Amino acid sequence: MSAVPERYIDFHAHLFPDDFFDAIWAFFRREYGLEVAHRLYARECIDFLRERGAGAVVYSNYAHRKGVARTLNEWNIALLESTAGLSCFAPFHPDDDDALAMARDILQHPQVLGFKLHFLVQPFRPDDESLFPLYELVMERGKRLLMHIGTGPIGNGRVGAAYLERILERYPCLPANIAHMGAFEFGRFFSLLEGHPGLFLDTAFCFLPGKFRMYTLGPEPLEQYRDRLLYGSDFPNIFSHCDEELAALEAMGLSDEFYRKVFRDNGEALLGRAISGL
Ligand SMILES: [Zn+2]
Repeated sequence: MSAVPERYIDFHAHLFPDDFFDAIWAFFRREYGLEVAHRLYARECIDFLRERGAGAVVYSNYAHRKGVARTLNEWNIALLESTAGLSCFAPFHPDDDDALAMARDILQHPQVLGFKLHFLVQPFRPDDESLFPLYELVMERGKRLLMHIGTGPIGNGRVGAAYLERILERYPCLPANIAHMGAFEFGRFFSLLEGHPGLFLDTAFCFLPGKFRMYTLGPEPLEQYRDRLLYGSDFPNIFSHCDEELAALEAMGLSDEFYRKVFRDNGEALLGRAISGL
């Protein structure tokens, strides 16, 4: 754990209003019989991560159905305005009235990095043409996407590397962070880093211990692609303590250079600033 820089960037956390968190945690309990290890609400999450050394936190939330993005975005703006060191991938749902106008508005906020698209939860496919204007808007504004588009920890008909490959044929420079390093198709997502300079992979949920462990390829690809990886905790929606994930990562014997880049330098370059405290 000592290899983690004293000040690091968490590029994949989740913050929601309290009633959304309650609903998500109840869903995990009902559907999977799982309790989150960190039952903390937004302000408590920020304090917890700050105490651990997170000098910047990038969080997201997502619109699981039509009509909730506006509520979340109002909440996001209030939180960002009152909290230094915080950035956000905002929700988007293509079926919302004025979806694109709302997207244009929220992108003006300097702490909004772009949009979270969660294809496990949201009922549309990544190559749905209704998303093309959003992809083009993000590129035009120099912002990014955070896409949950991999088949792990569970899949459905709307996730998988093939979708991203199809989108990249149309938009080869798409600026996107791929959540969970694309689990479980790690090799295919690592290959996509070649020739697609806008792509980064985040490590969220990949190294949890025991039955939740998703990443199994060993240290070599992590070192090979360390310039294109971003640490993310997936906090607080994980099912074992985040220290256990860092201990599992440490057991892989990765270089100090890996930690410096993945936990700090790559994130600083994307945020366009050096980190200090939250
Ligand atoms: Zn997540």
